[in-house]
Amino acid sequence: MSGSDLPMPASNADSAPYWQAAREGKLVLQQCAACGLKRFLPRHLCPTCWSDQTQWVEACGRGTVHAVTTVRRAPSQAFREKVPYVVALVDLEEGPRMLTNIVGPNAEQARIGQPVEVTFEVRENGVVPQFRIAGGNAK
Ligand SMILES: [Zn+2]
Repeated sequence: MSGSDLPMPASNADSAPYWQAAREGKLVLQQCAACGLKRFLPRHLCPTCWSDQTQWVEACGRGTVHAVTTVRRAPSQAFREKVPYVVALVDLEEGPRMLTNIVGPNAEQARIGQPVEVTFEVRENGVVPQFRIAGGNAK
């Protein structure tokens, strides 16, 4: 799945640093400066202690598959030529759980518990962090 002609997710004030880091090939997470919780999705307040003191930290890019499915019927025209593609919940080593795609030629072999690593999908208007089965060198 090259993804170059897929729409980009919309960026907002809370998530702009996430998308900027992706353009630089980095996966970043918010960390609460008050209680230390690392979180995803980006948001203004810590969901645990409600602090608005936030810093951005780089994630190691490794995680494991919590749940996975293969989409065989496109939800919209933009995805029509992308099916089948793999959607997964990935638990990052830092703790947060991300909804993402598993990409690469062996993506459909992804299973619950599978180690995965971040990869960066270049689209027309930006870059989207995605994941691939760890240990491969497929883009
Ligand atoms: Zn907090």
